[in-house]
Amino acid sequence: MSNCLFCKIRDGQIPARVVHRDDVCMAFEDINPQAPTHVVFIPLKHIATVNDIGLEDREAVGHLYTAAAKVAKERGHAERGYRLVMNCNADAGQTVFHIHLHLVAGRPMEWPPG
Ligand code: 5GP
Ligand code: ZN
Repeated sequence: MSNCLFCKIRDGQIPARVVHRDDVCMAFEDINPQAPTHVVFIPLKHIATVNDIGLEDREAVGHLYTAAAKVAKERGHAERGYRLVMNCNADAGQTVFHIHLHLVAGRPMEWPPG
């Protein structure tokens, strides 16, 4: 989608610190990290919100989780743990409308979220 920030990062039109890329998804450092590790995983396909995930997207969405777990493990977070979050629309605080899985790790976190 031409006006999407994360599509522009995917296409290299906006720079980002890319930490992972394969044929289904990519990941980059969040510009405003909320923890020592804060990496955002996106499908290469533009999907605006979780509400827009179709049955044909199930493999790509699952792929975000396996990629995130791989990066978490590489960074030494697997044993202590980490949080994976995908916000949907206004009440959850979604600000970029290309679905993305946040990997947040490296400090203890509270529950419930604010
Ligand atoms: P959301 O609030 O939609 O769940 O998450 C959007 C995330 O994208 C935020 O954590 C925000 O810091 C991050 N973000 C926004 N603009 C940019 C950008 O230009 N580059 C990178 N790397 N991250 C961004
Ligand atoms: Zn997009």
